[in-house]
Amino acid sequence: MTVLAVGAHPDDVEFGCFGTLARLSKENDVHIITLSAGELGGSKEKRLQECKDSAKLINAKLTFLNYPDGNIPVNFKIIDELRAHVKEIAPDTVFTLFPSDTHQDHRNASHVTISSCRYVNEVLFYEVPSTENAFHPNVFYNITEYFHLKEKGLRYHTTQKGKPYVNLVAIHGLAKVRAYQCGCDGLFEAFCLYRDVRK
Ligand SMILES: [Zn+2]
Repeated sequence: MTVLAVGAHPDDVEFGCFGTLARLSKENDVHIITLSAGELGGSKEKRLQECKDSAKLINAKLTFLNYPDGNIPVNFKIIDELRAHVKEIAPDTVFTLFPSDTHQDHRNASHVTISSCRYVNEVLFYEVPSTENAFHPNVFYNITEYFHLKEKGLRYHTTQKGKPYVNLVAIHGLAKVRAYQCGCDGLFEAFCLYRDVRK
């Protein structure tokens, strides 16, 4: 199986689905596409290096599309470029941001992924700190054994250290709540299933 995760900024995937990617990377090819370098939150070079180091932790192949941080568009160019990468990667499952989010880049990344992945069998939305309350998860992945990699991946983003949303206690707490919601012990990541086609 081939798995693709799309983020607007270099750390989105770590917040939303890194434990799940770590788990899936044991038996599957994992790809990450980042639409911007997150240059509003630190130097472009540093943020890309953080992203590369983090991807290496789980042997994920990283692709970077150079759209402007804060101004990721929803237009034919980005959809077409992302669609070309999706065609080449040929993922069975795609993880992307939830379309209801207070950050415009997250909303737009979600919309362009939906359009670019029109023919992908399975598309799931992950949550980040700015995801809005409409997120009602219906897919849960046990990441108990992989949470340390999620934590390590997040810690690699040193340019983001001290930002209020990089709260590892809250991130751990959320993983416990997601386990509780599906009647399990341990730590989970949760997703909203957008589409699941069984051919
Ligand atoms: Zn982000």
